[in-house]
Amino acid sequence: MVESVNNTPILLVNGRIIDPANGIDQNGSLLLENGRVSRLFFGKKLSAPRGTRKFDVGGKWVIPGLIDMHVHLREPGEEYKETIASGTRAAAAGGFTAVACMPNTKPFNDSWAVTAQILSKARNCSAKVYPVGAISKFGRGETLAEYGEMKEAGVVAISDDGCPVENSQLMRRALEYSSHFKLLVISHSEEKTLSHLGVMNEGYQSTRLGLRGIPRVAEEIMIYRDLSLAEYTGQPIHIAHVSTRESVSLIRRAKERGCKITAETAPHYFTLTDEAVDSYDTMAKMNPPLRSPDDIAAIKEGLADGTLDVIATDHAPHSTLDKDLEFDLAANGIIGLETAVPLALNLVREGTIDATRFVELLSSNPARLLGVEGGTLRVGGPADVVVIDPDKDFVYTEDQVVSKSKNSPFLDWHMRGKAVLTIKDGEITYSDS
Ligand SMILES: [Zn+2]
Repeated sequence: MVESVNNTPILLVNGRIIDPANGIDQNGSLLLENGRVSRLFFGKKLSAPRGTRKFDVGGKWVIPGLIDMHVHLREPGEEYKETIASGTRAAAAGGFTAVACMPNTKPFNDSWAVTAQILSKARNCSAKVYPVGAISKFGRGETLAEYGEMKEAGVVAISDDGCPVENSQLMRRALEYSSHFKLLVISHSEEKTLSHLGVMNEGYQSTRLGLRGIPRVAEEIMIYRDLSLAEYTGQPIHIAHVSTRESVSLIRRAKERGCKITAETAPHYFTLTDEAVDSYDTMAKMNPPLRSPDDIAAIKEGLADGTLDVIATDHAPHSTLDKDLEFDLAANGIIGLETAVPLALNLVREGTIDATRFVELLSSNPARLLGVEGGTLRVGGPADVVVIDPDKDFVYTEDQVVSKSKNSPFLDWHMRGKAVLTIKDGEITYSDS
């Protein structure tokens, strides 16, 4: 729940303020008033208004609220897995002040009505919710959805995520038509005839376990098509959940040519390999599948050199009914909102990225790509802020999972680094204490 403080000003003193959009990485203090960033102070003593709630954050990071541009909130239609209320509570607990939710709900979000319903449920929730509308009606890949109507209702991007747009002509038209409404097209890049019936990465592990594999090329061939269409139409495209070395390389080369392509990966693609499937653990089943150490190395290179623009969680809640099945039958996907910060901080600790890049990947870049507010601590901007303790040790146990579903491969992991105070529009949405 949002802790209502009736616009009580909040002062965060003694923080490491990191705001790449304004070139700031410096110790200082931040004053939030009336839901906005009101002042930034460096070095000097400041006088806060009467009644201000003051937090001495003791050198912890004070950064723009994190923005997850790829989550599944399951509402409407599958509220037994997650609701907009429970999903945004999980977001706040993970340091996120905003999420973009994919349209594969029941019904599919391909209309004004579903978008409006999601936004009405999201009011007063613990994080801002930006609906993503469908590329095609019912997500079936046959006819284009009504982008103008959905944009009017509040969608920030379009995607048929969960399924690829198999029809290349339809994808071409989607890129052209969406440009009139300035809606980013987010592609779930998968060539279905190659991934057909596959349940894990194709390789040694899949052979050993006797499970049907999904080859890397199923992803890469579709990314190649998508970037070709983006180049041909001159329109931007965003590639979701990149998982292989060659995908990173294709995107890097396309960017060098000036193609308006951007891309995201998820924490599990730089943390786990297909070895995690070893005991037929369905918590390691996702699409695209977990790959190899070499793919992880390439994903990290892509995050470090700017090829990959965003870390998004692909938060995909499933109940035990969907996951406690034999591997072939279990649902794809894992929850991710509450583990993104410690897993991404591993990259900072090992020197793959620095703190500034962390903020870009998890806040500034998603804000820019979606064209939404936030992603910066500029004075006058929304008071969406998170305090991160990069050294906080904790064990991620099932009883502390805030999401309604508990399908995480990271349960009982020793984690390091955590959001300890999350503030949305000047109100505290999560506090660790
Ligand atoms: Zn997807």
